[in-house]
Amino acid sequence: MPRRRTVPRRWHGGLQELAPGVYAYIQPTGATGVSNAGLVVGGDEALAVDSLMVPRMTRAFRRAIRRVTQARVRYLVNTHFHVDHVGGNQFFQEATIISHVNCRRELLEFGLPIDLLSQLMPRYAQGFRQIHLVPASITYEDKMILYVGDKEVHLLYLGRAHTQGDTLVYLPKEKVLFAGDVAFFYVTPGPYHCHVSGWIRVADLAQQLDVEAIVPGHGPVGDKKLLREMREYLAIVRREARKMFREGLPPEEAAQRLRVGGYYAQWAEPSRLPILVQRLYMELRGEI
Ligand SMILES: [Zn+2]
Repeated sequence: MPRRRTVPRRWHGGLQELAPGVYAYIQPTGATGVSNAGLVVGGDEALAVDSLMVPRMTRAFRRAIRRVTQARVRYLVNTHFHVDHVGGNQFFQEATIISHVNCRRELLEFGLPIDLLSQLMPRYAQGFRQIHLVPASITYEDKMILYVGDKEVHLLYLGRAHTQGDTLVYLPKEKVLFAGDVAFFYVTPGPYHCHVSGWIRVADLAQQLDVEAIVPGHGPVGDKKLLREMREYLAIVRREARKMFREGLPPEEAAQRLRVGGYYAQWAEPSRLPILVQRLYMELRGEI
């Protein structure tokens, strides 16, 4: 591990072109509810990756799309069911929404618990009331290939990770990966519905893809090195949580004792660590 690694204090927001017609849409600072999206333009067609959360976020994304292309958004891919990635689906009426089959099921099961969401993210309480959830109308199980003009877009399901239904959106020719919340860069990974060991496995599989740019669900555009760092963080937490599980410590105490220091201590949203430990305990007890 390099001795000195630092976290950038700020990064650019908005659309960033990663390859001709392939854009990341970044919302700083990647905090809870503030996620990224993507856009792939091929000729007079386009595909969007995720729809963000409350209406004002999605409207800003749509305005940014209009500034770079007149293409019709033909497809909207949902990388997973969390509201900060699907809350704006209603603003893509012209598009066919596609997700992994588990993502659709999770979205319908979880629904839109406005009270819970408003508790977690009080500043968006008003916006949550304006969301009308729209699930995918097309789902896939292992892999799906979409053709958007001259672009080939692979939807990959590599197993449970951040949720049960994470889709990786991979453009092999452009070597771009929209990882959804399988990747968090400089932000503590959001653990609420995760399976940590599955997530580590999926991160390892993603390393094998021929990719130069990775768009995370939260944080700035990065690369495989940053994905490895996130994987390493999950592995450290798993190792330490396992030790304490075997010592018979309850999860609350384990979470209190667990310190992931150094570089990782600079990551945003450190309060997610106890939930990560809880999920690991559930995994170790065979509950998930
Ligand atoms: Zn998420």
